[in-house]
Amino acid sequence: MFYQTFRPLTIAELDNEVVKERLKSILTNPPIAHAFLLTGPKGTGKTTSARLLAKALNCQNPDTTKGYPEPCTTCDHCQAIQKGTSPDIFEIDGASHRKIETIREIIEQIHFPPLSCQYKVYIIDEVHMLTTEAFNALLKTLEEPPAHAIFILATTEFDKVPATIRSRCTLITVPAAKPEDIRRMINRISNHTKTSLSEEVQKEIITFSDSSFRDATKLVEEMSTVDSDKKTVSQLMGGDANTEDLLQLLIKKDRIALQDKIEALVNRGANFTVILEQLLTKAHTRLKEKTAGAETREHLKLIKLLQQAYKEQRFTPIPSLPLELVFIEYCLS
Ligand SMILES: [Zn+2]
Repeated sequence: MFYQTFRPLTIAELDNEVVKERLKSILTNPPIAHAFLLTGPKGTGKTTSARLLAKALNCQNPDTTKGYPEPCTTCDHCQAIQKGTSPDIFEIDGASHRKIETIREIIEQIHFPPLSCQYKVYIIDEVHMLTTEAFNALLKTLEEPPAHAIFILATTEFDKVPATIRSRCTLITVPAAKPEDIRRMINRISNHTKTSLSEEVQKEIITFSDSSFRDATKLVEEMSTVDSDKKTVSQLMGGDANTEDLLQLLIKKDRIALQDKIEALVNRGANFTVILEQLLTKAHTRLKEKTAGAETREHLKLIKLLQQAYKEQRFTPIPSLPLELVFIEYCLS
């Protein structure tokens, strides 16, 4: 997968400009804190940044010419961290290891010195998922960590992290990816893969990525495997013919056919944000062609439902749900 294969290996390569500058500033101004909290939306590079910080602190041969320790990427420590095999770097998924036992295990081990690196680094992802007991145990460790231990916590939900934990961490705010950040990432990956994506496709990727590097990388990967000169992301993700079909079925209020169509799209892994955008564009064009009458009022209702679904798309755990609700509500009306 491109997102794994082409993760930035150095701080200079980080696509998120704000985080890049923040990490440089932290590393340029010792002493280094013993606890960090990375907070920001999904897919914006929190885990990547955590690993880079772990690498910068443990690299055996960092390049210091720019004022901060830039990981060399080739020493034993860098290599082990990149491969995920370092005995001193621990990555814990807070969502699946929520209980106090996980933190107890850390506490039992933390006082032993690192096996090879200078620092033992504990990266706890989705830290807001920990139970209250687990947080309380973690808090004690954060208050008096051994000199060789560093915690890097990451969360998408800052408000759910207890204030007592937050106040003991150096905060690193990870903003959503900006268009220019995503463009830089596309160029970086294209240099690795020796492929180039057309300007139109690059713009589409920026639009459809929802300010997430992960989603953008997925699109770059998919577009790199098709003949990108002939195809657009819209065609790949939704398919023009598909949305025209959908719109016709909607107008006919054919609920059974619509449900079949949705199932087929789900199975194909279609991007429902793109489909909704295309449906809205087509419905809007039709609206401009009409002037008055009952048919227009009906069409207006459909556009409002689609618009609502498009807004809700960002917050649903089931990508096809907002569109399914449009179908049901419109067919029942
Ligand atoms: Zn190194």
